[in-house]
Amino acid sequence: HTKSTGRNGYHFFEASMNANAHNQLQVIQDLRLALERKEFKLHYQPKFNTPNGIVVGAEALLRWQHPTRGMIAPDDFIALAEKTGLIVPIGEWVLDEACRQMRIWHDEGNQHWKVAVNLSAVQFSNDHLIELVQTTLARNNFPASGLILEVTESTAMHDVEASLTILDKLAGLGIDISIDDFGTGYSSLLYLKRLPATELKIDRGFIRDLAQGSNDSSIVAAIIALGRSLNLHIVAEGVETEEQQAYLRVLGCDAMQGYLMGRPMAPDQFMDAIHTAALASEQAASLVPPNT
Ligand code: C2E
Ligand code: MG
Ligand code: MG
Ligand code: MG
Repeated sequence: HTKSTGRNGYHFFEASMNANAHNQLQVIQDLRLALERKEFKLHYQPKFNTPNGIVVGAEALLRWQHPTRGMIAPDDFIALAEKTGLIVPIGEWVLDEACRQMRIWHDEGNQHWKVAVNLSAVQFSNDHLIELVQTTLARNNFPASGLILEVTESTAMHDVEASLTILDKLAGLGIDISIDDFGTGYSSLLYLKRLPATELKIDRGFIRDLAQGSNDSSIVAAIIALGRSLNLHIVAEGVETEEQQAYLRVLGCDAMQGYLMGRPMAPDQFMDAIHTAALASEQAASLVPPNT
């Protein structure tokens, strides 16, 4: 944000603050109505197994289709939703909708797919989380083994003892726990070892400048080695180039997500994209001469 600069800086700052405050109030009012007006949508980003390129599931990512402002990204309203507590009902809707959609995809023959749902810190520390997950799974007749809950490293490490209690209960239901944005917070190895997590997602920031010999390549290699030793599934997020993909393959990353292989998409686009990608890879495979 712009800080006061020069002679008129102060006035500029004050004016923009008022505009922001007014804007925020409006957004909060809109947020309160968005659920009942059914303005939230989930987009799904495919996640691919590294060795064979098969789709293993999707991450559900929240979008707000605002009547006048257009499509709003989660980074532009989640913080406000957390501050106002609205993230709790919104998060309930997200979990229910993600399970409902994945149930449909399971019924269409993709039973091995898992759906990953992001949890905010506020939801994570909500007393009713365990009960919510249980009732949502039951309502959608959705198997616990098909659900991954993503919590960021900083959320999980904020109050480690409390996190352990919650995560143990969640893991006890049979769902998977993924530590999102890994590498941006700071984890004590001792605690990481005690967390009942099944997956680490390497933060996009380390993937961006990934190249042989770079600092980031040492960090990513170290995270992968760490994950291996703790028996965790390692996912790279934000894979945008063929080079990054090839290098992550060399490093032994288990799964990948990124614009290169698939952007977050509306559910109907998702199935089309997966079919097209599968056809392309079958054709590519059939072009490879045998015994090479
Ligand atoms: P995240 O969970 O780390 O999700 C990954 C973000 O990276 C997504 O942004 C995704 O669209 C984006 N991304 C994926 N591949 C690439 C790539 O190759 N390049 C680049 N530049 N970006 C890529 P998105 O959808 O805007 O979500 C941002 C954040 O908002 C998420 O980060 C997550 O923390 C939060 N969020 C999203 N949906 C929900 C939700 O339902 N509930 C909560 N509490 N938070 C959510
Ligand atoms: Mg995530
Ligand atoms: Mg992430
Ligand atoms: Mg993030």
